[in-house]
Amino acid sequence: MFKEIKGLEKSFIKIKCPDCGSETVTFARASSEVKCQVCNTTIAKPTGGKVVVSGEITGEYK
Ligand SMILES: [Zn+2]
Repeated sequence: MFKEIKGLEKSFIKIKCPDCGSETVTFARASSEVKCQVCNTTIAKPTGGKVVVSGEITGEYK
């Protein structure tokens, strides 16, 4: 289940994979799907603006 990011002001986000718990840092406005580097699950999808994410966001970076 993908959900929107609320209140994000930074450029990069760290997403925790819902399947394996591994964390991946990605651009918050990525233009292609983002996959977990460990298990290849899709953890973020582009929407034309900010990505929607399937995992928990555990960090934000400039
Ligand atoms: Zn994973």
